[in-house]
Amino acid sequence: MVTALPRPTPDAALITLAEPSGAPIRVYPGQFFTLSLSIDGERLRRAYSLCSEAWGEVPEVQICVKRVSGGRVSGLLVDTLTVGARLDVHGPSGDYGLRPDAAAPSQLVLISGGSGVTPHLAMIRAALRHCPQTSITFVYGSRSPAQALFLDELRALAASYPQRLTLRLFVDDPQGEAWDGGVGRLTEARDHGGPSPGTPPSRPRRVVRRLRP
Ligand SMILES: Cc1cc2nc3c(=O)[nH]c(=O)nc-3n(C[C@H](O)[C@H](O)[C@H](O)COP(=O)(O)OP(=O)(O)OC[C@H]3O[C@@H](n4cnc5c(N)ncnc54)[C@H](O)[C@@H]3O)c2cc1C
Repeated sequence: MVTALPRPTPDAALITLAEPSGAPIRVYPGQFFTLSLSIDGERLRRAYSLCSEAWGEVPEVQICVKRVSGGRVSGLLVDTLTVGARLDVHGPSGDYGLRPDAAAPSQLVLISGGSGVTPHLAMIRAALRHCPQTSITFVYGSRSPAQALFLDELRALAASYPQRLTLRLFVDDPQGEAWDGGVGRLTEARDHGGPSPGTPPSRPRRVVRRLRP
């Protein structure tokens, strides 16, 4: 059941879900839920990653749905979902992420673009709280500052944990807004030397290697 539904940007819905019975939900950062909706007589299933903090049993979870242009499910969820609605939700599923029963990594390098921020935000929140030996570098690219999700939360976490969380934020185009992060696609040249017109994209493997101290 949907218990809260703020819209952090015009194109996104932050959906809080709870079991109608009040039963706790067992979930770990990096896992996702599958929403099943009937649209025009067709059953459509879409996966959405947990973005709230989770480290075992919680009373509710949050997912963030970002509208995909022309998308059937994301547009419907962002535009028409209301508090109190009951959704057909399966999960949680997935092995990606952090678990209390596994050794905590000393370093995490997480890279996402757009709505891909969601599982990484959950992992960052959990690691900062539950894995005190873990340091995190998070590289996050968005089209514009207005379309970047969770910027305030990420900056607040980085301010609270300056020794453990390093943010590398990028936008394709600041679109006239104040922006203190990088500009351009996530290429090796832009990450380390600022925009360099004509520089070909680097392979992700090389970006990860150069982010290591
Ligand atoms: C593990 C996992 C986790 C995810 N987590 C998140 C998350 O946290 N947040 C989030 O927002 N998304 C997440 N996603 C993506 C999400 O599952 C959906 O894929 C997304 O919301 C788009 O679904 P949709 O029904 O709106 O788009 P769809 O209807 O599937 O359309 C997608 C695109 O394909 C085009 N298209 C559709 N049909 C055709 C066709 N016949 N011919 C040509 N083009 C077509 C559409 O125009 C659109 O651009 C996740 C996906 C996975 C696999």
